[in-house]
Amino acid sequence: MLSELHQELRRSVRDFVVKEILPLADVLDREEKDIPDELIKKMVELGYFGLIFPPEQGGVGLDHLALAIVSEELSRGWLSVGSVLTRNLITGILIQAHGTEEQKRRFLPGIASGEILTAAAFTEPDAGSDTAGIKTRAKRDGDRYLISGAKTWCTFADRAHILTVLARTDPDPAKRHRGLSLFLVEKVPGDRFDPPRIAGEPIPTIGYHGMHCFTLGLQDCSVPADHLIGGAENRGFYQLMSAYESARIQTAARAVGVAQGALDLALKYAKERHQFGQPISQFQAIRHKLADMATEIEATRQLTYYAAKMKDTGTRCDLEAGMAKLFAADMVERVASEALQIHGGYGYSKEYSIQRYWRDARLFRVFEGTSEIQREVIAKRLIEG
Ligand SMILES: Cc1cc2nc3c(=O)[nH]c(=O)nc-3n(C[C@H](O)[C@H](O)[C@H](O)COP(=O)(O)OP(=O)(O)OC[C@H]3O[C@@H](n4cnc5c(N)ncnc54)[C@H](O)[C@@H]3O)c2cc1C
Repeated sequence: MLSELHQELRRSVRDFVVKEILPLADVLDREEKDIPDELIKKMVELGYFGLIFPPEQGGVGLDHLALAIVSEELSRGWLSVGSVLTRNLITGILIQAHGTEEQKRRFLPGIASGEILTAAAFTEPDAGSDTAGIKTRAKRDGDRYLISGAKTWCTFADRAHILTVLARTDPDPAKRHRGLSLFLVEKVPGDRFDPPRIAGEPIPTIGYHGMHCFTLGLQDCSVPADHLIGGAENRGFYQLMSAYESARIQTAARAVGVAQGALDLALKYAKERHQFGQPISQFQAIRHKLADMATEIEATRQLTYYAAKMKDTGTRCDLEAGMAKLFAADMVERVASEALQIHGGYGYSKEYSIQRYWRDARLFRVFEGTSEIQREVIAKRLIEG
C-alpha cells in the first residue's frame, strides 16, 4: 500500500499528464517534433528532475518509490516525457556519489533542479553492449583533456548543456574497463553543434520521438581537467555501474507506464467498439487478454516498487532492479502488442494512439542494456553471488 504522499504524488502527475502531455503527444510524435521547452520548464518547476536528490543539492528530497511513480505516470502519457528525466538522473547520481566537492557544488544543484540538462554519450558505433570496448580517447594536455572519437545514440545531445562522455584515459585497449573515465563536457544547448569540437547528426528512428538521438564526432574536444568526474582517471566504468540500480528502476517504471497507457486505450476501445451486436469487451477472447495484460502490469509494478524500496533502505538491489527492467521490457512489448490487437485494423492506423505505444514499447528490450545482456548479468549474480 502506498503512503498518502505517494498516492497524492501519483494523482498530481496524472493531472499534469492529462492536461499537458496527452493533448500534445500524438501530434508531436507524428511530426517527429521535440518536446517543447515550456513543457520541460513546467517539469522543472514541479521538481520532477530532482526527486531523489536532497533539497541542499537542488532536489526535492523524496525517494526512489516517488521516482518510480512519477516516471510511470509520465510515461503512461508518453514515453519520451518520462525519459527526459533519465539522463539527469544518471549524471546527478554520478556526481553525487563520485564527484569532487567542487563538481557537486558547481553542477549538482542545476542538474537536480533540471535547469542544467544533460545527455549520456557512452555508446559507440563499435561498442554498445561491450561498454569496455569503447575507443574514444581522452588525452591529458596541461590542465585540460582533449577528447576525440565517435559516439552514437546520444539521446537529447542537441538540447543538453552537458554531455556525460565515457572515454579511454589509458591508451592500452587491453585494460578494457580499467582504462575508462567519465567527463562532463559543456556545450551550448540548441539545435546546432560546434564542429569539429563536437559534431552531431540525428538518427532517424521508428519511435521515441519528442527527443532526437545523435551520432557524435568529437575532435580534440577540449575540457578542463577538473571536469573529470571524481578527479582521478580510470574509474569511469565502475562509477557508471554504480548508477545502474537507480537507472534500471526508473526504466522498469517507464515500461510499466507505457504498458498501463496501452491498457487504458485498449479498455476504452473494447468498451466502445461493437461487433456482432455487442461491445467487443463482451467476448471472452478480449476479456481474457485484458485480464492478462492488467495482471502482468501489476506484477511488474510490484517488482519495480520492491526494488525501489530496497534502494530507499540502502539495500543492494542490482539483482532486483535488473530483474524488474528485464521483466518490464518483455511485458510492455506483449501488452502493447495485445492492446493494438484489440484495436483491430484501427490499431494499425496512425489515427489512433495505440500505435505510438506499440512502437515505443519495442525499445525497452534494446536500450539501457539489452534483454540478452540483462539475462547474462542476472545469471552471473545468481551463479557467482
Ligand atoms: C532509441 C535509443 C536511444 C538510446 N540512447 C542512448 C543514450 O542516450 N546514450 C547512450 O550512450 N546510448 C544510448 N542508446 C544505446 C543503447 O544503450 C545500445 O543500443 C544498447 O546498449 C545495445 O548496443 P548496440 O545497439 O550496439 O547493440 P549490440 O551490442 O551490437 O548488440 C546487438 C545484439 O547482440 C546481442 N548481444 C551483444 N552482446 C551479447 C552477449 N555478450 N551475449 C548475448 N547477446 C549479445 C544484443 O543483446 C543485441 O541483441 C540508445 C539506443 C536507442 C535505440
